[in-house]
Amino acid sequence: MEKREALGKHRVIVLGLDGATFDLLMPLIRRGELPNLARLIEGGVHGVLESILPPYTAPAWASFATGKNPGKHGVVDFWEGPSQKRRRTPVSSRSIRGETLWSILSEEGRKVAVINLPLTYPPSPVNGVLISGMMTPCEEADYTFPKSLKGELKAQVGEYAVNPYARFGRNAHSLKKAIYWIEKREEANRYLFEKRRWDLFINVIQAPDPIQHHFWHLLDPYHGNYNEAEAKKYENLILECYKEVDCVVGQRLQKLDDETTLFVISDHGFGPAHKYFHVNRFLADLGLLAFQSPRGALHQGTRKVLGRGADLWRSLLRAVDLFDLRIKVLDNRVRAAIRERLDGTFSPPIDWAKTKAYCQDLAGQSIYINLRESGEEYEEIRDYIIGQLMKLKDPETQEPIIAHAYKKEELYQGEYLDSLPDILFSLGPHPYLPTSRLSVSSVVEGIPPYAVSGMHREQGLFVAFGSKVQKGMAIAGAKIVDLAPTILYAMKVAIPEGMDGKVLLDIFQPSYVASTPIRYQKPSPMEAPPYRYTEEEREEIEARLRSLGYLD
Ligand SMILES: [Zn+2]
Repeated sequence: MEKREALGKHRVIVLGLDGATFDLLMPLIRRGELPNLARLIEGGVHGVLESILPPYTAPAWASFATGKNPGKHGVVDFWEGPSQKRRRTPVSSRSIRGETLWSILSEEGRKVAVINLPLTYPPSPVNGVLISGMMTPCEEADYTFPKSLKGELKAQVGEYAVNPYARFGRNAHSLKKAIYWIEKREEANRYLFEKRRWDLFINVIQAPDPIQHHFWHLLDPYHGNYNEAEAKKYENLILECYKEVDCVVGQRLQKLDDETTLFVISDHGFGPAHKYFHVNRFLADLGLLAFQSPRGALHQGTRKVLGRGADLWRSLLRAVDLFDLRIKVLDNRVRAAIRERLDGTFSPPIDWAKTKAYCQDLAGQSIYINLRESGEEYEEIRDYIIGQLMKLKDPETQEPIIAHAYKKEELYQGEYLDSLPDILFSLGPHPYLPTSRLSVSSVVEGIPPYAVSGMHREQGLFVAFGSKVQKGMAIAGAKIVDLAPTILYAMKVAIPEGMDGKVLLDIFQPSYVASTPIRYQKPSPMEAPPYRYTEEEREEIEARLRSLGYLD
């Protein structure tokens, strides 16, 4: 057995809880259900962590990794930039431009363990170990660095899954699987804690995100689809999932010493989704998006079915497979999945020559203008859409649908600004789920009881704990881009120039701040060739996003 090398000084542990929000956790903490998180809040610093817009998992973790806004790292969605093609290219670790926390620390000769972070596939070489996370195409892929780690882990812990939530659905089986895999992967983490030297140990638990997409209505009696009998059926299992997460927090507390700072964070928050907001219908009603004629569309759809018959059936089977036939749910959700697959094939294609604006991202919280960026018409159309979005009301309740719409340059800047959506909008507290669906007849539509009931919000969570950190303090205004510089500061590493985030100095003890000046260094050039998923991998990723509730 190899012996563990001595641990270095000024270490950091980060525990990422994908999609976790205080809205849900605080009541559980107050009830005494999550004692370890309670201890962190009592003895450390906590507050809301502002995500980015749109608050999606892929771009949010890219901003965490780089300390930069999407205009600089280039990732704003689960897909690569805008395209007039239906088949989009999923983003990968190579889509993130510039240095990441782990590449900076590796350069400095510090040891890292980066585990299950979204968007780390294909794994890049680091000074330590890396196991990729969400967006890894399949279990057969080489998802570890070094490559041999995958076999080592399986030999140690029996089995390991890099995508344990790949077929998550609204059923007890999925919740039980989540509990099993939180603990199983923690077994692997315990092994790595023991056997590897680390200065930064970071892992992400993905479970809160799919749980909240599928079960939010059962945690929220004000949700239109709340159902008491269903809530009773699942409440213990859901609570058990969060308790399992709290156990992991407890494990991290045991690793703390005077040299180590612990951060518990989420990439975005969550909130209720009651109704769809079909963004492309909204644009079509404004006369800014045009479809090809129905006859042409039908013709194309038929051609697709006839021409790609095998393909279509494979897609259908995948859609059915999403809901795991082993648990006998040939119910509404399966039918809905099949309908949506057909919808994608038969929806009228966009007439690009007549289209001036469209929504294309995964969850629909942004709009591209189909015109050159400079020019009067571009600005006029953008102002017009923003004005209409801000005025938009739910026809039933007269409530506003969005909280605010922004021009991209109001939020972001950097060399990849051109490829970002021209308009981004925030939902605020409003319970809508924006979509980029094409074949819909109204702008606002109730979400059926079998579909997702929770959706991302910008307000994630932040907790810091350790001997360098203030005690029992609440903070406001922390942003996800602040984490990379703050973590480097806690590790006494110089911060590369060009990050958008700032060091959260307020969270540290005055004695640490007095003895630790913020140091900067020149950034290192990072170049990696783009990664192309195979068509099969692309389909698998799309199917998985669908089951997580990301794709409508
Ligand atoms: Zn997420």
